Amino acid sequence: MIKKEKKQRLVYSILRLSVLPITILGIILTAYSQSSVREGMIFEVENNLSGIAHNLISLYNMMDAGDFSYEDGRIMKGETDFTSDYRLLDDVKNDTGADVTIFIGDVRCLTTLVNKEGKRLTRTRVNDVVRKIVLEDGEDYFSQNVDVVGASYFGYYVPIRNDEGRVIGISFAGKSVKSIHTSINYMMQGNLIICLFVILLAGFLCNISAQRMVATIHGIKNYLARLAHGDFSHKMPKQVLERKDELGEMGEYALSVGYSLEEMVSRDPLTKLLNRRAGRIQLEHRMGQKCFTIVMGDIDFFKNVNDTYGHEMGDEVLCYIAGELREMVSDIGFCVRWGGEEFLIGYDGEASFMQEMLYRFQKTLQKKKFCHEKKEFTVTMTFGVAEYGREEDFEKTIERADELLYYGKEHGRNQIVMDSVMAGAWKAESLS
Ligand code: GH3
Ligand code: MG
Ligand code: MG
Repeated sequence: MIKKEKKQRLVYSILRLSVLPITILGIILTAYSQSSVREGMIFEVENNLSGIAHNLISLYNMMDAGDFSYEDGRIMKGETDFTSDYRLLDDVKNDTGADVTIFIGDVRCLTTLVNKEGKRLTRTRVNDVVRKIVLEDGEDYFSQNVDVVGASYFGYYVPIRNDEGRVIGISFAGKSVKSIHTSINYMMQGNLIICLFVILLAGFLCNISAQRMVATIHGIKNYLARLAHGDFSHKMPKQVLERKDELGEMGEYALSVGYSLEEMVSRDPLTKLLNRRAGRIQLEHRMGQKCFTIVMGDIDFFKNVNDTYGHEMGDEVLCYIAGELREMVSDIGFCVRWGGEEFLIGYDGEASFMQEMLYRFQKTLQKKKFCHEKKEFTVTMTFGVAEYGREEDFEKTIERADELLYYGKEHGRNQIVMDSVMAGAWKAESLS
């Protein structure tokens, strides 16, 4: 339970480090881009309305170069009477989608704007701000909130001048705020969806790599935990060792620590054979194995070797014998330094095959000439071979092999002593 919580917490920490900044950045960028889009769109609208209002004046000038005037209910442009003639305005509205108006003085004289009943909104007046800026100061004016019969409009006002340059009216172009906002919102929605998608994708990718990272750390942790409990059989997960980053390196170092530790606690430093502790683990692995043989071997008169040729020479003999025995069972069993000059061999097969192998080994050993200060000598070994019956535990088999070995020691040494598990009781037979 605790272990799971720890794993979870690591995932969340990594995700917090990666997804949170991306999300915050995403929200900031989205908000910033939304306001930029809005500003950009409004700027566009202003430019567009400005163009329409200026063009409107040019279009009327093309029809009649004279000045606008409003007398006795008649709207004139030079000699042309435009009273109730809305064709030009309606064409502009159809082409641009903008409502347009011609004010003469501050009075709305020609317009595409209509009230609820569909009547043209003429004879109304501009407000004080427009009067001041456009009519009196002669400047263009843009407003984001023009009230036209209760509806809000973006409006652009351009002064109309007579031949002498005096402001005599206003050209107006406007679009309803509602329609502009609809298109701004439409664009912003698209933006928002893209941003959300990018955040989700980034979060998803971060999550995948965080999960992988945690699984790797977990693999290393499990390996070290088993190591801490003296279990060297646990393998480092493949996904850890395949990584080329620091975590992969960490896994490799943990593995090296495992190998060194295993070497230290499992092997005899002189002969490099398994020590008793590791030997017992090997035996436990073979518990209940159908066909398994245990051999106890001891060097004959080894004390004499030490006494005659020195301890170092004794070590050399031990190492030689250890190497040969290990070689003999390298793929079919294991060899343990059980005591000083005593070895235990575990063989994954029948005692009769082991006997043959030991026989060949004895012959080789007899031929081996050890040399110390130009003096040559040979050594011999005695073996007790006991087959493991599944019903007995290993201690009993080791005990039997030991007894067989000492039977051999007492009966002339340099021999292999066998027993018969089948018979239920062991019967020693000398092969020397
Ligand atoms: P037996 O044939 O009855 O086995 O006689 P033995 O002399 O081999 O047996 P004994 O038990 O009398 O002597 C064993 C000797 O092995 C005594 C000890 O000094 C020596 N020995 C044990 N471990 C080592 C080692 O690591 N290096 C060396 N050089 N000698 C060792
Ligand atoms: Mg001995
Ligand atoms: Mg001994």
